[in-house]
Amino acid sequence: MTDDKMDFAIERPALTVLPVAGSDLMFPVRRVYCIGRNYAAHAIEMGHDPDREDPFFFQKNADNLDPSGRFPYPPKTSDVHHEIEMAVMLKSGGRDIAVESALDHVFGYALALDMTRRDLQGIQKKLGRPWEIGKAFESSAPVGPVHPVAEVGHLDEGAITLRVNGDLRQEGDLNQMIWKVPEQIAYLSEYYELAGGDVILSGTPSGVAAVERGDTMELDIAGLGQMTVTVV
Ligand code: MN
Repeated sequence: MTDDKMDFAIERPALTVLPVAGSDLMFPVRRVYCIGRNYAAHAIEMGHDPDREDPFFFQKNADNLDPSGRFPYPPKTSDVHHEIEMAVMLKSGGRDIAVESALDHVFGYALALDMTRRDLQGIQKKLGRPWEIGKAFESSAPVGPVHPVAEVGHLDEGAITLRVNGDLRQEGDLNQMIWKVPEQIAYLSEYYELAGGDVILSGTPSGVAAVERGDTMELDIAGLGQMTVTVV
């Protein structure tokens, strides 16, 4: 636990903070949970059965979230994929949260990308090893400003699209999620104690593909506006 009055043995690492749209306030990030295969068409394109089996999650690090609009092409890969996702930011948490009250814990929503070193992820999958090396690297989660529920309401339907250099790559609707946002919160809270500052990436529609340096990714989710991320 940190305390502003403590003296630290080394320089204190920076807290990851995200801008809140229409405000001078910042959203502090605690943990990042990411659901896998949560749109049926994407599960199929990755070679899996889209039936409603139990959800599964992996994690990124808080400081992998990057609101800069720039995605530095990462090392040790030649196959980096875009996955547009709606990010859910929690203002509170707890354990064993009921589906019916789960949305009470949501502060807001944001545009996000779950950038993936697909070649490295594929090797790890084949070996039955953890995915972090493919998922949880520097700037692996470009993210837009946080739109408070008070401004945009709760988002459970509407178009989610990603264009690369103007070409439509990913297209879906938030209502195609296999596990809805309240179900994701409830499920996670059975296994972890959730808290304000936690972020959930809620899955990607089909059409994931590779990017190259110089590409421009245009994210669009109905109700959250647009954001451009350039691969550098
Ligand atoms: Mn994803």
